[in-house]
Amino acid sequence: MNASYALAVVGVGKIARDQHLPAIAANPGFTLVAAASRNAQVESVRNYTDIGALLAAEPGLDAVSLCAPPQVRYAQALAALRDGKHVMLEKPPGASVSEVEALRDLARAHGRTLFATWHSRYASAVEPARAWLATRTIRAVHVRWKEDVRRWHPGQQWIWEPGGLGVFDPGINALSIVTRMLPREVLLRGATLHVPADCSTPIAAELDCIDTDGVPVRAEFDWRHGPVEQWEIDVETTDGLLALSEGGKRLVIAGEPVALAPEREYPALYERFHWLIAHGAEDVDVRPLRLVADAFLLGRHVEVEPFGV
Ligand code: NAP
Repeated sequence: MNASYALAVVGVGKIARDQHLPAIAANPGFTLVAAASRNAQVESVRNYTDIGALLAAEPGLDAVSLCAPPQVRYAQALAALRDGKHVMLEKPPGASVSEVEALRDLARAHGRTLFATWHSRYASAVEPARAWLATRTIRAVHVRWKEDVRRWHPGQQWIWEPGGLGVFDPGINALSIVTRMLPREVLLRGATLHVPADCSTPIAAELDCIDTDGVPVRAEFDWRHGPVEQWEIDVETTDGLLALSEGGKRLVIAGEPVALAPEREYPALYERFHWLIAHGAEDVDVRPLRLVADAFLLGRHVEVEPFGV
């Protein structure tokens, strides 16, 4: 790693503070010079209240990392790309598939890197699981991604609004792993979406998918679960069960625990962003978001009790 890129973070909230700022501070390939957020500020850098002011005042900036909720991703990325910046997008990369594809085209036209991140793909279990599954005969896949929304998303109104994805906000992490780990493409055949009477997005969902060989892939997402989270993917194969759990921090294959590297999802994301910029490359995979969009297209909506937002 040689060049150090001048970087700004946009949308200083939970994930920016928990993961992005420490990962950037530990990466000599980036220098955090500024932040843009309507209410929050980052110490020791220049702060602005929106991305327009940031771009106008920081001509030396190389890249921005967008950490606000998905509903504002497109407008922020558009402004940054038009201003010639490299752009890293938190997951989900946008509120619709079409806007992410438009951003990819724009980044190419401007010769800039667009990196649509899927942090769960960098969980330690994912690459060993992918390597093992590459030569196996898969019989069935079962995803259980369940947690207590009141514990993990306190006060987050945007998750219940259109574009906020509801339970697909964590569920899309599982789909990002599935689409990376399985050897064949996955298509959605049907879904049930449980939507609280006072919300626009589901609190729970079941997805029925198949891979292109017809192998069933079923996913259950539920935000009414607790107190212990369930972030698990089971893959039944003719050589035994592959069980990924704890969101990808644990892997058991045919009854044997697999030794895994320590968790470093966000440090790995910034290493990847640096590599992409240095190599004039992009990384934009819309497949997890497309499965969610398909679930909204094909899903049967069932009204459930109000959440009380
Ligand atoms: P958050 O804390 O609710 O929001 C991040 C910040 O974005 C807010 O503090 C707010 O800062 C800014 N913001 C909110 N609404 C905005 C709007 N309409 N226009 C401009 N800025 C706005 O959310 P988060 O948990 O950090 O999640 C942000 C993104 O990261 C989501 O896409 C989420 O899926 C992803 N993510 C979250 C987690 C997690 O554990 N929380 C993990 C991985 C990925 P200001 O009020 O200062 O503008």
